[in-house]
Amino acid sequence: MSYRDILQQIRLAFPQPVSDSIHDSYFVHSIMRALDQVDGLKTQLPILGSVISGDFEQARKATMPDRMSSVEHVTADLVSYLRGMTIFGHPHTQQNVVPPPTISSLIGVLLASLHNPNLAWDEYSRLVALAEAEAVGMTAQLVGYDPERSGGVFTFGGTGTTLYGVKIGLEKACPQAMRKGVSEDAVVFVSDAGHYCAHNVAGWLGMGTENLVTIPTTDDNEMDLARFEQEARAALASGRKIAAVIATLGTTDAFGLDDLQGIVSLRDSWVEEFKLDYRPHVHADAVIGWAWSVFNDYDFGSNPLGFRPRTLRALAGACRRIRHLSLADSVGVDFHKTGFAPYVSSLVLFREREDLRLVARSPEQMPYLYHFGDHRPGTFTLETTRAGTGPLAALGNYRLFGKQGLQVILGYIVEMAQLLREHLEGHEGITVLNRENFGTVTLFRAYPAGVDTFAIKRQEFNDPAYRDVLISNNEYNRAIFRYVHAEAMAGRGAVISSTDCYRRTTYQEPIFALKSYILSPFVDEGHVEVVVAKVLEAREKTS
Ligand SMILES: *Cc1c(COP(=O)(O)O)cnc(C)c1O
Repeated sequence: MSYRDILQQIRLAFPQPVSDSIHDSYFVHSIMRALDQVDGLKTQLPILGSVISGDFEQARKATMPDRMSSVEHVTADLVSYLRGMTIFGHPHTQQNVVPPPTISSLIGVLLASLHNPNLAWDEYSRLVALAEAEAVGMTAQLVGYDPERSGGVFTFGGTGTTLYGVKIGLEKACPQAMRKGVSEDAVVFVSDAGHYCAHNVAGWLGMGTENLVTIPTTDDNEMDLARFEQEARAALASGRKIAAVIATLGTTDAFGLDDLQGIVSLRDSWVEEFKLDYRPHVHADAVIGWAWSVFNDYDFGSNPLGFRPRTLRALAGACRRIRHLSLADSVGVDFHKTGFAPYVSSLVLFREREDLRLVARSPEQMPYLYHFGDHRPGTFTLETTRAGTGPLAALGNYRLFGKQGLQVILGYIVEMAQLLREHLEGHEGITVLNRENFGTVTLFRAYPAGVDTFAIKRQEFNDPAYRDVLISNNEYNRAIFRYVHAEAMAGRGAVISSTDCYRRTTYQEPIFALKSYILSPFVDEGHVEVVVAKVLEAREKTS
């Protein structure tokens, strides 16, 4: 075959540059075939096909084919890699903070991938850059920032949002760190229920993980403010700089919400007291909790959407903390968690977009942020290329749901989580651990018959004399989890998950917990009962 023939095949494998409706049909048909094949993997179970464990040894020896293949063959091959994937939208999936993405967000990703806008510069992204600015503006208003002053960018995940927040804080505390490096000790505070990405951030920014100070949490999984005050005062008194305080609004395992208002007011008082020439930066890691902002102006009294009283109380309980998000200097948002968008769609917002000047690549030169026709986020972002997928997915969902749609879907899954708790607590063999955290995640433990579950939670948590009991009950719950998991993989029951250490006891022993994370709008009361029934069945079979 001459290269001309092969070139012909190559050309057919691209979407056509000028309108060609016949080829368009081929393109759409190729996508449809892929979807058809994925559909062929679906059964009633929450898994595509069945779980096949991968041979990574073999995978490393994979070789590149010698010759050109066809779109049809490659499609079938690619689809085969989805076998065994959990179907996150399935009502029997309550595994983790992984949402099912909507069709609008998927189309956003497809469109951005099809024409490859690069958000570094509007010359290469045109109105997709504007879509990013609109998603930023809408989110800023949602959390209560002034859209005239605030700004932000989409970045590589929730970890990226924390990296941006802490980096800006570091520049405020240690001016010129960007140019000269970090030559003095600067500390970062986060609660011990905060996300481990803070560890990466402190390490990767060159501050050192030893300068990350983790503050213990209260029983409700929020930062203990008295301990925070003590640690922060000690740091300031010894002349160390505070690069950032990370307030977590929505912890990953328990949906604990830090008292952001309290943290900010402590911070403000220290600026005067210690005569600081900078204001320690407060970053809100709200990658999970941000979405609850849609309830900031919900009328809980008249309850226009008709949520049940327990749900209403849970939503109001979360809002009590979330409504203060605008007090933070920066906020991290993951649309790919509680915004029903595919990976990766994360946004970091700054209350003062001027803050972003601190990391602009040439400080002598004004970074022309947000001037039409000269929009170059690439002059200050860490990334060079940034895809348009995240913003178009986020914007797609904002436009699809509107505020009310988001209120409904969040309110509904919170309602299902509340129902689950009701059913779990209806049995004397089970306790719910994060009862005062009002998200869609429920942490619980089962106990063998004969255990007084009304007393055991406190005893295990507070009393070192119960160390052995706690450890043995950790093992018991691991066995419960193994049973429930094996059943789910065999197509019976629901896929839940577990956490080895949802938190530590007062005497520093990790507490294992079973975990249900409801994010599928397809869950209803029957699916919630299945989880409880499976756990009780496991309890029968485990001794
Ligand atoms: C998931 C999570 C992160 C990390 O976000 P990625 O998008 O996975 O990078 C950070 N903080 C919290 C609280 C999280 O739950």
